[in-house]
Amino acid sequence: MGKVYLTGAGPGDIDLLTIKALRVIKKADVIIYDRLANPLILKEAKDGCEFVYVGKEDSHHTLPQEEINEVIYQNALKHDVVVRLKGGDPFVFGRGGEEGIYLRERGISFEFIPGITSAIAVPEYAGIPVTHRGITVSFRVVTGHESKNKDHSQIPWENYKTDDTIIFLMGLHRLKKIASKLIEIGKPKDYPVAVISKGTTPDEKTVIGTLADIHEKAKNLPTPALIVVGEVVNLHKQLNWFEQE
Ligand code: SAH
Repeated sequence: MGKVYLTGAGPGDIDLLTIKALRVIKKADVIIYDRLANPLILKEAKDGCEFVYVGKEDSHHTLPQEEINEVIYQNALKHDVVVRLKGGDPFVFGRGGEEGIYLRERGISFEFIPGITSAIAVPEYAGIPVTHRGITVSFRVVTGHESKNKDHSQIPWENYKTDDTIIFLMGLHRLKKIASKLIEIGKPKDYPVAVISKGTTPDEKTVIGTLADIHEKAKNLPTPALIVVGEVVNLHKQLNWFEQE
Protein backbone atom coordinates (compact mmCIF):
# COMPACT_ATOMS: atom_id res chain seq x y z
CA MET A 1 0.00 0.00 0.00
CA GLY A 2 1.36 3.37 -1.01
CA LYS A 3 1.25 6.90 0.23
CA VAL A 4 -0.69 9.70 -1.39
CA TYR A 5 0.71 13.22 -1.65
CA LEU A 6 -2.15 15.69 -2.07
CA THR A 7 -0.07 18.32 -3.77
CA GLY A 8 -0.60 21.93 -4.84
CA ALA A 9 0.76 22.67 -8.31
CA GLY A 10 0.64 26.46 -7.98
CA PRO A 11 -1.33 28.84 -10.16
CA GLY A 12 0.22 28.29 -13.60
CA ASP A 13 3.82 29.50 -13.83
CA ILE A 14 5.75 26.25 -13.39
CA ASP A 15 8.44 28.04 -11.38
CA LEU A 16 5.86 28.64 -8.65
CA LEU A 17 5.92 24.96 -7.75
CA THR A 18 7.38 24.33 -4.30
CA ILE A 19 10.61 22.37 -3.84
CA LYS A 20 8.69 19.86 -1.74
CA ALA A 21 6.16 19.31 -4.54
CA LEU A 22 8.94 18.90 -7.09
CA ARG A 23 10.64 16.29 -4.89
CA VAL A 24 7.56 14.07 -4.74
CA ILE A 25 6.79 14.57 -8.43
CA LYS A 26 10.27 13.30 -9.27
CA LYS A 27 9.74 10.09 -7.30
CA ALA A 28 6.06 9.52 -8.18
CA ASP A 29 4.92 6.18 -9.60
CA VAL A 30 1.68 7.77 -10.72
CA ILE A 31 0.48 11.37 -11.01
CA ILE A 32 -3.25 12.06 -10.95
CA TYR A 33 -3.75 15.60 -12.21
CA ASP A 34 -6.32 18.28 -12.99
CA ARG A 35 -6.77 20.63 -15.91
CA LEU A 36 -5.50 23.54 -13.83
CA ALA A 37 -2.19 21.89 -13.00
CA ASN A 38 0.36 23.04 -15.61
CA PRO A 39 1.07 19.91 -17.74
CA LEU A 40 4.73 20.98 -18.13
CA ILE A 41 5.16 19.83 -14.53
CA LEU A 42 4.64 16.25 -15.70
CA LYS A 43 7.94 16.44 -17.61
CA GLU A 44 9.66 16.38 -14.22
CA ALA A 45 8.40 12.85 -13.51
CA LYS A 46 10.72 9.83 -13.68
CA ASP A 47 10.67 7.37 -16.59
CA GLY A 48 7.80 4.93 -16.28
CA CYS A 49 5.63 7.20 -14.16
CA GLU A 50 1.96 6.82 -15.06
CA PHE A 51 -0.31 9.80 -15.66
CA VAL A 52 -4.01 9.89 -14.95
CA TYR A 53 -6.05 12.92 -16.03
CA VAL A 54 -9.15 13.61 -13.99
CA GLY A 55 -9.66 17.05 -15.51
CA LYS A 56 -11.94 19.51 -13.94
CA GLU A 57 -12.90 22.65 -15.73
CA ASP A 58 -14.01 25.15 -13.12
CA SER A 59 -17.08 23.54 -11.65
CA HIS A 60 -17.74 21.21 -14.59
CA HIS A 61 -16.15 18.05 -13.36
CA THR A 62 -15.01 15.65 -16.03
CA LEU A 63 -15.17 12.99 -13.36
CA PRO A 64 -17.47 13.32 -10.37
CA GLN A 65 -15.54 13.87 -7.14
CA GLU A 66 -16.56 10.46 -5.80
CA GLU A 67 -14.92 8.81 -8.82
CA ILE A 68 -11.78 10.89 -8.45
CA ASN A 69 -11.56 9.78 -4.81
CA GLU A 70 -11.84 6.18 -5.92
CA VAL A 71 -9.19 6.59 -8.65
CA ILE A 72 -6.77 7.95 -6.04
CA TYR A 73 -7.59 5.13 -3.65
CA GLN A 74 -7.19 2.39 -6.28
CA ASN A 75 -3.84 3.83 -7.32
CA ALA A 76 -2.70 3.89 -3.71
CA LEU A 77 -3.37 0.14 -3.54
CA LYS A 78 -1.15 -0.47 -6.58
CA HIS A 79 1.69 2.05 -6.25
CA ASP A 80 4.12 3.24 -3.59
CA VAL A 81 4.18 6.95 -4.39
CA VAL A 82 0.95 8.52 -5.61
CA VAL A 83 0.91 12.24 -6.37
CA ARG A 84 -2.47 13.90 -6.58
CA LEU A 85 -1.62 17.16 -8.32
CA LYS A 86 -4.11 20.01 -8.07
CA GLY A 87 -4.07 23.59 -9.35
CA GLY A 88 -3.11 26.22 -6.80
CA ASP A 89 -3.50 25.00 -3.22
CA PRO A 90 -5.36 21.76 -2.40
CA PHE A 91 -7.48 23.42 0.32
CA VAL A 92 -8.60 26.52 -1.60
CA PHE A 93 -11.69 25.27 -3.41
CA GLY A 94 -9.60 22.24 -4.29
CA ARG A 95 -11.56 19.53 -2.46
CA GLY A 96 -8.29 18.33 -0.95
CA GLY A 97 -10.03 17.80 2.38
CA GLU A 98 -12.61 15.49 0.85
CA GLU A 99 -9.92 13.41 -0.81
CA GLY A 100 -8.02 13.18 2.48
CA ILE A 101 -11.10 12.02 4.38
CA TYR A 102 -11.84 9.37 1.75
CA LEU A 103 -8.31 8.02 2.05
CA ARG A 104 -8.25 8.12 5.87
CA GLU A 105 -11.47 6.11 5.99
CA ARG A 106 -9.76 3.43 3.92
CA GLY A 107 -6.53 3.36 5.92
CA ILE A 108 -4.36 5.03 3.26
CA SER A 109 -1.69 7.39 4.55
CA PHE A 110 -1.26 10.79 2.98
CA GLU A 111 0.45 14.14 3.20
CA PHE A 112 -0.73 17.54 2.07
CA ILE A 113 1.73 19.70 0.18
CA PRO A 114 0.53 23.30 0.06
CA GLY A 115 0.67 25.16 -3.23
CA ILE A 116 0.69 28.84 -4.08
CA THR A 117 -2.95 29.72 -4.52
CA SER A 118 -4.18 31.60 -7.56
CA ALA A 119 -6.29 33.73 -5.20
CA ILE A 120 -3.19 35.66 -4.09
CA ALA A 121 -0.58 34.95 -6.77
CA VAL A 122 -2.69 35.85 -9.80
CA PRO A 123 -3.55 39.35 -8.49
CA GLU A 124 0.14 39.65 -7.54
CA TYR A 125 1.24 38.98 -11.13
CA ALA A 126 -1.25 41.65 -12.17
CA GLY A 127 0.26 44.12 -9.71
CA ILE A 128 -2.75 44.06 -7.38
CA PRO A 129 -1.84 43.50 -3.72
CA VAL A 130 -4.70 41.79 -1.85
CA THR A 131 -3.91 43.97 1.19
CA HIS A 132 -2.30 47.39 1.19
CA ARG A 133 -1.64 49.73 4.10
CA GLY A 134 -4.13 52.57 4.14
CA ILE A 135 -6.47 50.84 1.70
CA THR A 136 -7.60 47.55 3.18
CA VAL A 137 -6.67 45.40 6.14
CA SER A 138 -8.22 42.16 4.98
CA PHE A 139 -9.29 40.08 2.05
CA ARG A 140 -11.84 37.36 1.36
CA VAL A 141 -11.70 34.51 -1.09
CA VAL A 142 -15.16 33.48 -2.24
CA THR A 143 -16.59 31.03 -4.73
CA GLY A 144 -18.50 32.73 -7.52
CA HIS A 145 -20.07 29.45 -8.42
CA GLU A 146 -23.41 28.55 -6.96
CA SER A 147 -25.38 25.39 -7.27
CA LYS A 148 -27.95 25.79 -10.03
CA ASN A 149 -30.76 24.05 -8.24
CA LYS A 150 -30.69 26.37 -5.24
CA ASP A 151 -33.42 29.02 -5.21
CA HIS A 152 -31.56 31.57 -3.21
CA SER A 153 -27.94 32.56 -2.90
CA GLN A 154 -25.61 30.61 -0.62
CA ILE A 155 -23.23 33.57 -0.67
CA PRO A 156 -23.78 35.86 2.36
CA TRP A 157 -23.80 39.06 0.27
CA GLU A 158 -24.62 41.25 3.29
CA ASN A 159 -21.16 40.44 4.70
CA TYR A 160 -19.47 42.12 1.78
CA LYS A 161 -20.38 45.70 2.66
CA THR A 162 -16.90 46.23 4.15
CA ASP A 163 -13.77 47.51 2.38
CA ASP A 164 -12.25 44.03 2.30
CA THR A 165 -10.74 43.01 -0.99
CA ILE A 166 -12.98 40.29 -2.40
CA ILE A 167 -11.50 37.65 -4.68
CA PHE A 168 -14.03 35.53 -6.52
CA LEU A 169 -12.86 32.23 -7.94
CA MET A 170 -14.97 30.31 -10.47
CA GLY A 171 -17.08 33.41 -11.03
CA LEU A 172 -16.44 34.59 -14.59
CA HIS A 173 -19.68 33.16 -15.98
CA ARG A 174 -21.61 34.97 -13.22
CA LEU A 175 -19.74 38.25 -13.37
CA LYS A 176 -22.79 40.32 -14.23
CA LYS A 177 -24.77 38.82 -11.36
CA ILE A 178 -21.91 39.29 -8.89
CA ALA A 179 -21.44 42.94 -9.87
CA SER A 180 -25.14 43.73 -9.61
CA LYS A 181 -25.39 42.00 -6.21
CA LEU A 182 -22.55 44.17 -4.91
CA ILE A 183 -24.26 47.30 -6.20
CA GLU A 184 -27.49 46.10 -4.60
CA ILE A 185 -25.85 45.91 -1.14
CA GLY A 186 -24.61 49.48 -1.50
CA LYS A 187 -21.23 49.50 -3.22
CA PRO A 188 -20.81 52.43 -5.62
CA LYS A 189 -21.26 51.70 -9.30
CA ASP A 190 -17.77 53.02 -10.02
CA TYR A 191 -16.16 50.68 -7.45
CA PRO A 192 -13.00 49.14 -9.00
CA VAL A 193 -12.97 45.56 -10.33
CA ALA A 194 -10.32 43.55 -12.13
CA VAL A 195 -10.73 40.32 -14.02
CA ILE A 196 -7.50 38.40 -14.55
CA SER A 197 -7.44 35.59 -17.07
CA LYS A 198 -4.80 32.83 -17.33
CA GLY A 199 -2.83 34.45 -14.53
CA THR A 200 0.92 33.82 -14.14
CA THR A 201 1.14 32.32 -17.65
CA PRO A 202 2.42 34.01 -20.83
CA ASP A 203 -1.26 34.49 -21.83
CA GLU A 204 -2.18 36.42 -18.69
CA LYS A 205 -4.56 39.29 -19.34
CA THR A 206 -5.99 41.79 -16.88
CA VAL A 207 -9.06 43.86 -17.59
CA ILE A 208 -9.86 46.75 -15.27
CA GLY A 209 -13.31 48.25 -14.91
CA THR A 210 -16.02 49.16 -12.44
CA LEU A 211 -18.97 47.27 -11.00
CA ALA A 212 -21.09 48.93 -13.68
CA ASP A 213 -19.02 48.09 -16.76
CA ILE A 214 -16.74 45.13 -15.94
CA HIS A 215 -19.20 42.63 -17.34
CA GLU A 216 -19.09 44.27 -20.75
CA LYS A 217 -15.31 44.76 -20.71
CA ALA A 218 -14.43 41.23 -19.63
CA LYS A 219 -16.98 39.25 -21.57
CA ASN A 220 -14.55 37.69 -24.04
CA LEU A 221 -11.85 36.69 -21.60
CA PRO A 222 -10.93 33.00 -21.50
CA THR A 223 -10.95 30.88 -18.34
CA PRO A 224 -9.47 30.25 -15.88
CA ALA A 225 -10.11 33.72 -14.60
CA LEU A 226 -10.67 35.33 -11.25
CA ILE A 227 -12.32 38.56 -10.16
CA VAL A 228 -10.84 41.08 -7.72
CA VAL A 229 -13.15 43.69 -6.20
CA GLY A 230 -11.72 46.54 -4.11
CA GLU A 231 -9.78 49.79 -4.05
CA VAL A 232 -6.51 47.83 -4.32
CA VAL A 233 -7.37 47.28 -7.99
CA ASN A 234 -6.33 50.91 -8.60
CA LEU A 235 -2.73 49.98 -7.70
CA HIS A 236 -2.47 47.96 -10.93
CA LYS A 237 -1.52 51.17 -12.76
CA GLN A 238 1.56 51.63 -10.56
CA LEU A 239 2.47 48.01 -9.89
CA ASN A 240 1.81 46.12 -13.13
CA TRP A 241 5.05 44.31 -13.93
CA PHE A 242 4.31 41.04 -15.69
CA GLU A 243 1.95 41.80 -18.56
CA GLN A 244 3.11 43.65 -21.63
CA GLU A 245 0.91 46.64 -22.34
N1 SAH B 1 -7.15 25.39 -5.71
C1 SAH B 1 -7.09 26.45 -6.69
C2 SAH B 1 -8.44 27.04 -7.01
C3 SAH B 1 -9.41 26.03 -7.60
S1 SAH B 1 -10.93 26.78 -8.08
C4 SAH B 1 -6.13 27.53 -6.18
O1 SAH B 1 -5.75 27.53 -5.00
O2 SAH B 1 -5.72 28.37 -6.99
C5 SAH B 1 -10.60 27.17 -9.75
C6 SAH B 1 -10.62 28.67 -9.96
O3 SAH B 1 -9.37 29.25 -9.58
C7 SAH B 1 -10.83 29.11 -11.39
O4 SAH B 1 -12.19 29.11 -11.75
C8 SAH B 1 -10.28 30.53 -11.35
O5 SAH B 1 -11.21 31.42 -10.77
C9 SAH B 1 -9.12 30.38 -10.39
N2 SAH B 1 -7.84 30.19 -11.09
C10 SAH B 1 -7.03 29.12 -11.00
N3 SAH B 1 -5.92 29.30 -11.75
C11 SAH B 1 -6.03 30.53 -12.31
C12 SAH B 1 -5.21 31.30 -13.18
N4 SAH B 1 -4.04 30.84 -13.62
N5 SAH B 1 -5.66 32.53 -13.56
C13 SAH B 1 -6.83 33.02 -13.12
N6 SAH B 1 -7.66 32.33 -12.29
C14 SAH B 1 -7.26 31.11 -11.88
